[in-house]
Formats: sequence, structure tokens, C-alpha cells
Amino acid sequence: MKLEQIISFLDELVPFHYAESYDNVGLLVKGAEELTGVLVTLDCTEEVVAEAKNSQCNLIVCHHPIIFKGIKRLTGSHYVERTLMAAIRQNISIYAVHTNLDNMLEGVNKTLSQKIGLLQTEILFPQISTLLKLQTYVPESETEKVSNALFEAGAGHIGAYSECSFRVQGIGTFKGSETSQPYVGKSGERHYEKENKIEILFPRHLQSRLIKALKQSHPYEEVAYDIIPLSNHNPTIGAGMIGDLPHPVPSLDFLKQLKKILNTGIIRHTPICKDMIQRVAVCGGSGGFLLSEAMRARADVFITADITYHHFFDADGKIIMADVGHFESEQFTKELLMNEIQKKFPTFAVLISNTNTNPVNYL
Ligand SMILES: [Zn+2]
Repeated sequence: MKLEQIISFLDELVPFHYAESYDNVGLLVKGAEELTGVLVTLDCTEEVVAEAKNSQCNLIVCHHPIIFKGIKRLTGSHYVERTLMAAIRQNISIYAVHTNLDNMLEGVNKTLSQKIGLLQTEILFPQISTLLKLQTYVPESETEKVSNALFEAGAGHIGAYSECSFRVQGIGTFKGSETSQPYVGKSGERHYEKENKIEILFPRHLQSRLIKALKQSHPYEEVAYDIIPLSNHNPTIGAGMIGDLPHPVPSLDFLKQLKKILNTGIIRHTPICKDMIQRVAVCGGSGGFLLSEAMRARADVFITADITYHHFFDADGKIIMADVGHFESEQFTKELLMNEIQKKFPTFAVLISNTNTNPVNYL
């Protein structure tokens, strides 16, 4: 299999558009074009590069980007430099899917929610500005054809509904120049045509595919269309997740069970201000910034990582905040990535890294 095949699959599965602006996702190191195997890991370290080589994998798909800030030299004085140098020497590619995977409906937080047993899960903090509207003007006879092409390109999804659009009839006018070859009417004469205006929603990452489908299916030489940015929340893209346990559980029992599920050495938490827990907010990794969203969503507990001393105070007796460890909260990401790649390329070697990359130890 070619490197390009898997890259275009990952780019489509976890689009760049949904990564946070500070992030550095995608192909970070380009190695051999011909792939021998894929190794999936949370972190890419020197040990993981060595594991990849020993397992005949020449592509590492990782969650945390090994290149995150500017690199000025490759002398081997720092683990990031050594990891990159080892990958380059062995002709191994490195591809990162980070906050773009965090922000997907079926991403890091969905997997964590499923492990905890949450039902009716929704994105805790949906993104804005990732939904756009396309308006276009189509002769009546071609409306169905163009609509179908737009639906097939992925437009028109709202929640559990697909093929959502709006049409209104009107009259379009145009006058072609001498060099034009109009589909209807004559060059140099104003033409009146019965048209339908189609309005349809689509997610930002599909824009180029959608415009291509529009132009290919539309009969006019020059296709008139508008793309309108929307400030609607996008319920399928965003940070964190909220959901409910099937029934309320005593708070301490829940935390003890959570410790087992995540196999974590310690859970740091705020005072047990609720007797029972049913509504649970989660955010894999450093999710402290979502505390107010978790409170607004009436969560009994907010499970995340990297909470600082002062941030614990912000729970303010209204919610239990539980820091389960960064690595532990994202440990299922490897499984998620491996399953998705294997689903698409069932006969190709996709392995989960056995290297424990958690830099935090518990005494
Ligand atoms: Zn992380």
C-alpha cells in the first residue's frame, strides 16, 4: 500500500479543519512511499520508532504531535530531536491526529464515554463557524440532478436527517457575451429562465468536494453560487462530551469504578459535593477549560486531566472535578485509530504500540 492512500483516508476521516489553531497535525515526517505496516500510538518517542522498525512498520500514526513548536536544530540533545532523527534515518513516516480527533463526534471523548458506560452522549462544547450554507440557482429541469450530486458529496445532514435542503422557484436572467455558449438562450440576448434556488448546509471540510460536484452536475457554463458562513453551533464537532449513566451511582463508588476502568494510579478530585452521580462530562487530555460548560450542562462530575491546584477551587462545591491523568484519559485513542484504519484496509498490517509512553509514574 502507498503512504498517500492512508494519508488521504486519514485526512478525510479526521479533517485538518477541526484541529485547534495552535495544533500541528497531519504528516510530520515523510518516509518511504511504499508502506510495510502502520503502528498506532498515543505518543511518538524514540522507543516507539524502534518498536516500529522491529515490527516492520514504516508509518507511525500518533495522537500527540512530536513536532509541536519550532525546531531549530537536529543534534540529538533533546528527545524530540532524537525521535525525529531516528524516524528520518529509518525512512519512517510520522502522522499526527490530535485536536482534530478530540473534536470529532466519534473521536477521543466518544471512546472514553463508551468505556465509562455513558448513554445519550452529545458534544459538550460544539464548535461554531464549521457549518456553511451553499445557495445555488439551477434550471428547473436539472434541479433533481444537482440536488442529488450535492447530497452525494455529503451536504444536507442535520442530526439524524439527511438530504435536507430548501428550494424556492424564481426567474434567473443572464446575457452571454459573443464568446459564450449558453446552455439555454442566445449569446448577446438577455435570457429569462425558470430556476430553483437550492439552499443546503455542509461542513467546512467538504467545501472543495461540494463545489466540484456542483460544477460537474450543473448544466450552465458559469455556475452562480454563494457560500455563506454560519454562526450555528455544529453538534458534530467540538470539545468534550456529556452523557448519562443508565442509573445514578453513589459518587465514591463511581470514582472507584472509574479508577479501575482507566487503570490509573490515582484520581485527584474535588470534595464529594454530590451523593449520587448520573450526568457525566468528559474531556480526554487537558480539558480544564471546559469546567463552566460542564457545570452549565448540569454534570455531576467532570472527568479530565492536567487540572491545576487553583483550578480545583473553581468547582466551588457545584460539581465534582476528577483528574484521572492525561495518558489514562486518552489511552483508548490507540484502539480507536487502529479500528478505523483496519476497517478501511482490512488486509493491511495495523498494530497497536506496546510501548508505555506515559511519562508520569505513581509512587
Ligand atoms: Zn493529549
